[in-house]
Amino acid sequence: FTFPSGQQLQQGWNGRWSQSGSTVTVSNESWNGNVAANASVNLGFLGSWNGSNAAPTSFSVNGVACNGAPPSPPPSSPGGPSSPPPSSPPPSSPPPSSPPPPPPPGQRVDNPYAGAKVYVNPDWSAAAQRGGAPASIYNQPTAVWLDRIAAIHSGSAGENTMSLEDHLNEALNQNADVIQLVIYNLPGRDCAALASNGELGPDELERYKTEYIDVIYNILARPEYQNLRIVTIVEIDSLPNLVTNVSGAGSTDMCRIVAQNGVYVNGIGYALAKLGSLPNVYNYLDAAHHGWIGWDDNFGATAQILYQAANASGSTPANVHGFITNTANYSALEEPYIQVNDQTRASSWIDWNRYNDELSFAQAFRQRLIQAGFDPGIGMLIDTSRNGWGGPDRPTGPSNASDLDTRINESRIDRRIHKGNWCNQAGAGIGERPQANPAPGIDAYVWVKPPGESDGTGLDIPNDEGKRPDEMCDPAYQGNARNGNNPSGALPNAPLSGHWFQEQFEELLRNAYPPIN
Ligand code: BGC
Repeated sequence: FTFPSGQQLQQGWNGRWSQSGSTVTVSNESWNGNVAANASVNLGFLGSWNGSNAAPTSFSVNGVACNGAPPSPPPSSPGGPSSPPPSSPPPSSPPPSSPPPPPPPGQRVDNPYAGAKVYVNPDWSAAAQRGGAPASIYNQPTAVWLDRIAAIHSGSAGENTMSLEDHLNEALNQNADVIQLVIYNLPGRDCAALASNGELGPDELERYKTEYIDVIYNILARPEYQNLRIVTIVEIDSLPNLVTNVSGAGSTDMCRIVAQNGVYVNGIGYALAKLGSLPNVYNYLDAAHHGWIGWDDNFGATAQILYQAANASGSTPANVHGFITNTANYSALEEPYIQVNDQTRASSWIDWNRYNDELSFAQAFRQRLIQAGFDPGIGMLIDTSRNGWGGPDRPTGPSNASDLDTRINESRIDRRIHKGNWCNQAGAGIGERPQANPAPGIDAYVWVKPPGESDGTGLDIPNDEGKRPDEMCDPAYQGNARNGNNPSGALPNAPLSGHWFQEQFEELLRNAYPPIN
C-alpha cells in the first residue's frame, strides 16, 4: 500500500515489513504464507507522521489491486451490540471495544477483564502505601502469588500473610469480578537460575499434584466463589527453559533433568486440566518475553512446547484461555524510537531478534500459538508492573548517531545493559497501569509482579523457601552466556525474592511511565 502524506513505517509484526519511498510492502513470515480460502491473516504495524495522517491507499495483494469498498471508519464511541453493522467487511482485527453482554452462568466470557473490577491485594496495597506510593498506585490490582504450599494457608513470601481463602473472601467483600492468582511451585522450579528455586525437588510431581494443585482446586471450587472470575497465571519462566536452556552454553543440569523427566510438561498439564475444569477459572499460561523467545530459533519451538503441555496429563487446549508475557520482567511495552528492520536487527541490543518490544511480540506470538493449535479466541496479557522506563534517562526522540549501536542505545527506552538481565534492574520504573482491552489481541495489561517485591538476592540469606543466592542479583557479577556475559545491572543490597525492597520501590515510583499523577 501507499502512504499518501509522508508517513514512515516504524515496525510491523506478523509479516516482513519494508518501506521504499511512500510504498509499503509486507511479505509473509515462514509460518503464515499459506492462507486457506476465506481465512484471514492479521498484520500490524506502528508508524509515525508529521502534519497530516491521511489513510493509506492503493492496496494490492500479490500485485493485484484491491478494489473493494473502503473499510468503514471506526465508531466514534466504543462499538457495542447497538452499533450499526459495518457497510463493508469488518477489518480483520477488531478494535478494542466494550464488553459483550455476560454469557449465561457457567460459561466463560471472552475477556474476563473487560468491564471488570479487579481485586486489590490488601497485603501488597498496605506495603505500597507504607512504602510511599500515592493512592493511584496502591489502589491498583496486583496478583496473589501462591509460591509454595504454605502460601495457600498463610501467605507467600515477605509481607504477605493472607491465606488463599482470606483473599477470595476479601475479593467478595470488595465486590471484585476478577482475582488474579499465580500458580508457581513446579518441581525443580526456576531451573536456569537460583533466586526463585522452590521447595519441591525435580522428582516431586506427586506432591505438586496432591499437596498443591488439588488443595488450591478444592478451595476455588467452593460454591461461594462461583461468580468470581479466577485468573490463574500458570507457572512463569518454566516451559521456555526447556527450549533454550537444555543444551549449549546457557544450559543447566536442572533444566536438563526437568526436560528429561517431563515434570514441567506434566505438572503444567495437570494444573491446566484440574483448575480448568472449574468454569470460572481462566488459565493464562506463561509465554516468557520477547528478549527470551523472540528469535526465530525459539519462537515456534516454544509455541510447540506450550501446546504439548496443554495436551499433557489429561489436559486439552480448551483449558488455556490465553497467555501472559513479560511476567516479572522489564521488557519495554513499545520502543517508539526504533524501527525493527534488517539494518537495526544487526545492532548488539536487538541482536537479530525479530522483536524489540513486548506489544508487537505478544501480538505476533498469539498468532503463532493459534497456528500451533490453540483456539483463535485466546487473548494475551502483558505484565507492565515494572517496564515503564521513565525518569530523566528516558530518550525523547530517536538518536541521529551514525554508528548503529550508538544510535540504538541512545534511542531505546529500555535502559538495561542487556535483555537477558532480569534481577532488580537499576533505572526501571512502574509501567502502564492495569487496564482491559488495551490493543488488538491483548486482554489486559496487568501487574503480576507486585512492584516493590524483590526478584532475588546475591547474598546468602538463610530461608525456608528454597531460595538461593543468585549472581544475577549481584551488581558486581560480570554475567554468563544467558546475558551475553554482561554485568547484571541489579540494584545492590536486595532481600530474598518476594520480600519487600524499599529502595527499588522508590526508584520504580520515581521512574514510572506514564508518570504518576
Ligand atoms: C518469588 C516469589 C514471590 C514473587 C512475587 C518471585 O520471584 O520467587 O516468592 O512471591 O516473586 O514477588
